[in-house]
Amino acid sequence: MIDLHSHTDESDGTFTPAELVAEALRVGLTALAITDHDTMRGYEMAVPHAAGTGLELICGIELSTRFGGASVHLLGYFPCHPPARDFRGWLDFLLESRRDRNRRLIDRLQALGLDITLAEVETRGRSLTGRPHFARILVEKGYAKDIQDAFDQYLDESAKGYVQRHEIRIDEAIQRIVAAGGVASLAHPVRVAKNDWARVAEYVEALAGMGMRALEVYHSDHSPESVAFYLSLAKRFGLAPTGGSDFHGGNKPKISLGTGLRNNLALPEEILAGLKKVSGGC
Ligand code: AMP
Ligand code: FE
Ligand code: FE
Ligand code: ZN
Repeated sequence: MIDLHSHTDESDGTFTPAELVAEALRVGLTALAITDHDTMRGYEMAVPHAAGTGLELICGIELSTRFGGASVHLLGYFPCHPPARDFRGWLDFLLESRRDRNRRLIDRLQALGLDITLAEVETRGRSLTGRPHFARILVEKGYAKDIQDAFDQYLDESAKGYVQRHEIRIDEAIQRIVAAGGVASLAHPVRVAKNDWARVAEYVEALAGMGMRALEVYHSDHSPESVAFYLSLAKRFGLAPTGGSDFHGGNKPKISLGTGLRNNLALPEEILAGLKKVSGGC
């Protein structure tokens, strides 16, 4: 079994890179992609822990991009070689837009009357500070009863505290990933246009035209019907099917590494072979 979508506490998971590797070995994974938001630090820290264990670690990234007027997550995989150097520099630029968003988010929450500072939220993050870290502070201070409630009340796109982040265009993100030697895969397409399958098909076709070579067919949030549909799209547009749990540790407590939500995942190694193939081979 493999898992190609996971987060460490370097972005918005709660497991350290070492703990994530230990969990992967405990559940019997043979390959694990670490796909932190905007940083590869978690992957780099995990490498020495995975060495010699038989677990194949894959370098990945999850980027927040703009597409069709919405925020869309894009995965980048580097299954054969680490990304070219200037890709790291570009990630630092993305982290700056996140810091800018965080400052505006604090202003907004303070304007809503909450007692919260950027300094205290930043103590919860490592390589970066994300909304789940804001959620933790809101829970600790009694403004929300749990993480989900903090999102529902304040942090979700539809909630009163939401502020937009400057996001890169998805075509630019795809180009950057491809230029750095990687493969781009649309993350959890279920979130792109919920049950509007005709629209999802249009989007995937457009993204394939921009150079995307993979599609996240398998994900904890995908029903069996949607998996079948995404698989048909992957075949239609010549994309490698990818998938994973999107494990975030205690920030998404119902999701398990490898097996997803209530055992709805068990990805075979052929998935990784297919990803390597579209990346040009290792
Ligand atoms: P950020 O990148 O800082 O904007 O935070 C985005 C992360 O927050 C996502 O990757 C999820 O882990 C989490 N998240 C976003 N929306 C929600 C939501 N409605 N409920 C729970 N978690 C969410
Ligand atoms: Fe996340
Ligand atoms: Fe995501
Ligand atoms: Zn994710």
